[in-house]
Amino acid sequence: MKFSDLGLNENTLKAVEEVGYTEPTPIQEKAIPEILKRNDVMGIAQTGTGKTAAFTLPMIDILANGRAKALMPRTLILSPTRELATQIAECFQKYGKYQKLTMALLIGGESMVEQQKILSRGVDVLIATPGRMIDLCERGRILLRDVRVFVLDEADRMLDMGFIPDVEKIASKLPSMRQTLLFSATMLPEIKALAQKFMKFPVEIRVDPPMSTADTVEQFIVKTNERGKREVLRNLIRAEDVKNAMIFCNRKKDVDILFKSFTKHKFSVAALHGDMAQGARTDTLNAFRDGNVQLLVCSDVAARGLDLPDVSHVFNFDVPVNSEDYIHRIGRTGRAGRTGRAFMLVTSRDFKALAAIEKMIGKKIEEMSRFSVEMDPEPEPKTKGRRCGKSAKQAEAAPKNDAVKKDEKRERAPAAKEKQPAVKEKQPAPEKEKAAVPAAKAANGNKKAKPVQNNRPPKRQNDRKPAETKAFGNAMPAFMMNEIKLS
Ligand code: ADP
Ligand code: MG
Repeated sequence: MKFSDLGLNENTLKAVEEVGYTEPTPIQEKAIPEILKRNDVMGIAQTGTGKTAAFTLPMIDILANGRAKALMPRTLILSPTRELATQIAECFQKYGKYQKLTMALLIGGESMVEQQKILSRGVDVLIATPGRMIDLCERGRILLRDVRVFVLDEADRMLDMGFIPDVEKIASKLPSMRQTLLFSATMLPEIKALAQKFMKFPVEIRVDPPMSTADTVEQFIVKTNERGKREVLRNLIRAEDVKNAMIFCNRKKDVDILFKSFTKHKFSVAALHGDMAQGARTDTLNAFRDGNVQLLVCSDVAARGLDLPDVSHVFNFDVPVNSEDYIHRIGRTGRAGRTGRAFMLVTSRDFKALAAIEKMIGKKIEEMSRFSVEMDPEPEPKTKGRRCGKSAKQAEAAPKNDAVKKDEKRERAPAAKEKQPAVKEKQPAPEKEKAAVPAAKAANGNKKAKPVQNNRPPKRQNDRKPAETKAFGNAMPAFMMNEIKLS
C-alpha cells in the first residue's frame, strides 16, 4: 500500500514524500481513509506505530477548505503532556508544509505573551493539554463551537494521569456535530467507555496485539537487594556494549537519586521527569537524541510516547507495577528490526509484579545470573518502616484514592501512585548523595504546591477535594502559545 492510495491530496503527499516515508504504517493505512470519510475513529496501536501521522495527515486535508474565525479554532487536539503536544505540532508543521494553516500550541511552562492575540485572530489547529484548555475556556478566551474535528491522543495516558474529568468537561463544550478521533496504545475498559460517550458509531481500528513484546528485544532479569541496586546497574552497564540506554524508575525521586549517582560515577547521563522546566526537558531530549548523552534516566510519564531514537538498551531500575509499562519501556529498543537488550533489576519485593509481567508477555524472563547479588529476605506482609507501607493488594486497591497534590497526580505514572506512601518511609541510602534529597521535598516535587505535612501519612490527604484547574491559580507558570505559520 502506498500513501497515494489513501485519498490524501497532492500537497500532503508531497510533504510526506519529503519527510521520507515510503509507505504508511498499518494504523495509518486503516485510519486515514476512514478519517477522510469523516467517520469517528478509535485507533488502538502500540507506541511508535505512527499514530500521530494517522490523524494529522487527513486533518490537514480536511482543513484545506475553509478559514478559522476569531476565537474559534476549527480543530482541537488534546494531548496529555507538553512534549507530546509539541511533537504533534511538529507533525503539522512538517506535513502541512504546502498548506496555509494557522496553529496554536497551548501548553504550560512558558509565558502567555502572545496567546490572546493569536486566538483572537483564529486558528485552524489548536493543540493543548487538558488543564490549559479548561483554564482558557473558563476565562472565556476561546469558543469551541466551531470545532469540527476533536482528537483525543494517548487516551490511555490521559486516564493514567487523571485527566478524564477535564477531558469530559472540554468535550461538553464542543458542538455535537463534529468528528471525534481517539487514539490509544492500549484498550482499557475505561477507554472503551469514554469512546462510547464521545462518539456515535466509531470505526474501531486495532493494530498489533497490545500485549506483544518485540521479538527483537532480548530480555533479562538480574536479582539484587535494595541497597545494591545502583552498583548492580553500573556493573551491568559497564559490561554491556551500551551505545545509548534509557533507564526507567518508578518514581521521580529515584530518577533524581539515580541521576546523581551516575553523575558521581562519571557516566554520561541526563534525567527526564515531569518536574523539570520545559526548557530543560527539551534540551535533555535533544542531547539524548543527538548522542551527546549516553544514558537517560526517566520516569514512565516523562518518556511515554516521545519520539526518541532507537536505543541499544533499556534498563528497568524498578519493576513497573503496571505491567503494561513494561511493554512500553522495552519497546524503546529493538525497533525497526534491529536487536536490543532489556534488563530489569528484581528485588525480593518485586516477585508479584514480575509474575504479572511474565504472565502478560506469556514467557519467563531469563535471569542473567552472573550479575545477580544476594536478595533481601522476602518482606513480611506488614513490615514496619519499609518501603512498601501497604501490601501490594492494598496498594492496588488504593491508587485512585491516594491523595496527592494536583500536579503530581497529573505527572506521575500509575506505578508511582502505588508506591507513593513510601516517600515518608526509610529509604535505603547506600550512597551519600541520597541523603541530600529530603523525603518531604521529594514527596512534594513541585515546590510551588502546598507541602505535604510531615507528620501525616499521605493517605490522610484523601480529604482534600480533587484539585480543580482553577487551583493552578497564580502558582502555575503562565500559558505558552506559539503561533507557527505553515506556508
Ligand atoms: P505513536 O503516536 O504511535 O506512538 P508516532 O506518531 O510518535 O507514534 O511515530 C513514531 C515514529 O514513527 C516517528 O518517528 C515518526 O516520524 C515515524 N513514522 C510515522 N509514520 C511513518 C511512516 N509511514 N514511515 C516511517 N516512519 C514513520
Ligand atoms: Mg502518539
